[in-house]
Amino acid sequence: MASAGDNLCPVCRSRLKSGPANLFPRAIYYQCPKCGQFGLTASAEAQLFNLLATPRNESVLSYAISKAPRTGPDTPVFDFEDCNKIVEADFLPTPQEQAENLIRWLGDHLGGPGEMLHLSFPTLPFS
Ligand SMILES: [Zn+2]
Repeated sequence: MASAGDNLCPVCRSRLKSGPANLFPRAIYYQCPKCGQFGLTASAEAQLFNLLATPRNESVLSYAISKAPRTGPDTPVFDFEDCNKIVEADFLPTPQEQAENLIRWLGDHLGGPGEMLHLSFPTLPFS
């Protein structure tokens, strides 16, 4: 299980960009290259291991967290009930939706026609 001290994302187990940080008594914040910036309540972090028993469940939760809006004070904090509902909903984008997301992401991140961009799976926010 990823715990607050091992510098791995408790959801997808990627190496964190920074953190974890306990900015408030009941939440732990993470900067994950795959999930993005998010927070978990302490009880959610403690119970996540059983919920993420399969790679699909990890992917479902990581994808949902990555799609939650985030900036500064609006960083989402998930409690265990939120995580459980996301995993039960079992939503992942279809291959077609993933391709469309890639095209949109390229449009947002390329400087213009003919520009090149090197990609790797850990850096893609929607993989
Ligand atoms: Zn993650």
